[in-house]
Amino acid sequence: MSKVVLITGASRGIGRAMAIKFAESGWLVAANYNKSEEKALQLKSMSSNIYIYKADVSDRDEVKKMVDAVRKELGPICVLINNAAISSIKMFSDITKEEWDHTFDVNVKGVYNCTQEVLPDMVRMNSGSIINISSMWGQVGASCEVHYSATKAAIIGFTKALAKELGPSCIRVNCIAPGVIATEMNKDVDLSELREETPLGRIGTASEIAECAYFLASDNSSFITGQVIGVNGGLVV
Ligand code: NAP
Repeated sequence: MSKVVLITGASRGIGRAMAIKFAESGWLVAANYNKSEEKALQLKSMSSNIYIYKADVSDRDEVKKMVDAVRKELGPICVLINNAAISSIKMFSDITKEEWDHTFDVNVKGVYNCTQEVLPDMVRMNSGSIINISSMWGQVGASCEVHYSATKAAIIGFTKALAKELGPSCIRVNCIAPGVIATEMNKDVDLSELREETPLGRIGTASEIAECAYFLASDNSSFITGQVIGVNGGLVV
C-alpha cells in the first residue's frame, strides 16, 4: 500500500516541487492549496498520485475538514510537511497589528493546526515524520522581515520541543531551513547580492529542498529528529 504525505502550500514553489518528488516516488500526495486553484489543478493533472485539498491552514475548521477528507480518501497520514507560509517586506515600525497577527496565524498557528489534526494517525501507527519548513532568516534574522523571521524562529523552537515529546512514540520531527530559493516568494527581491554571498555562488532550486524533505520522510533518516537542516549553499553555517 502506498504511503500518504500531506504537504501544505503545495500549489506553488517549494511545496509543488515536493509534491512532484513524492508522487514520482510512488507516494500518495495530499497537496494542500489556499488561493491558487488553477495552479493546484495543474499540479493534480501531472500525476494520478496527486490529490488536491483546499484549506486555509490558519483556520482550524478548514484544516480539520481537510485532514478528515485525506484520511477517508487516501488513508492514514504518515508524513506531514508544514510548508505553507507568507512573507512581506516592511520596516519593523510599519508592520501593523493585522499584518503581524496574519503572518503568525498562517506561519505558526498553521503549523500547530495541521500538526494537532494529523498527529492521532501517527500516534496510532507508532511512527511518522513531521517536517517543518523554517528559513535561514529564522536562524539569523532578516532586516525588514522581522515578523517573517520571528515566525520562522518559532518553528525551530516548535520542532525541537515536539521532537522531544514525540520521540517515545517513534515520531520524528525535523526542520528544513532553506537559504535563498527561486520561487514567487522572492519575486520582488533583488537576489544578486545574496547570490554573490552564497559560497556555492548560486540561488537554490525548489527541487533541492524537495530532495531534503524526501530524505527526512524516508527511513534513511530514521535516527534523525529535532534537527534543523540548512539547505542554503553554505550561506548560513
Ligand atoms: P511561495 O512560492 O510563495 O508559495 C507559498 C505557498 O504557501 C503557496 O502554495 C500558497 O498557496 C501557500 N499558502 C500561503 N498561505 C496559505 C494559507 N493560509 N493556507 C494554505 N496555504 C497557504 O513560497 P515558497 O518560496 O515556495 O515557500 C515555501 C516555504 O519555504 C515557506 O515556508 C517559506 O517560508 C520557506 N522558505 C522559502 C525560501 C525562499 O527563498 N523561497 C527561503 C526560506 C524558506 P496558495 O497560493 O494556493 O494560497
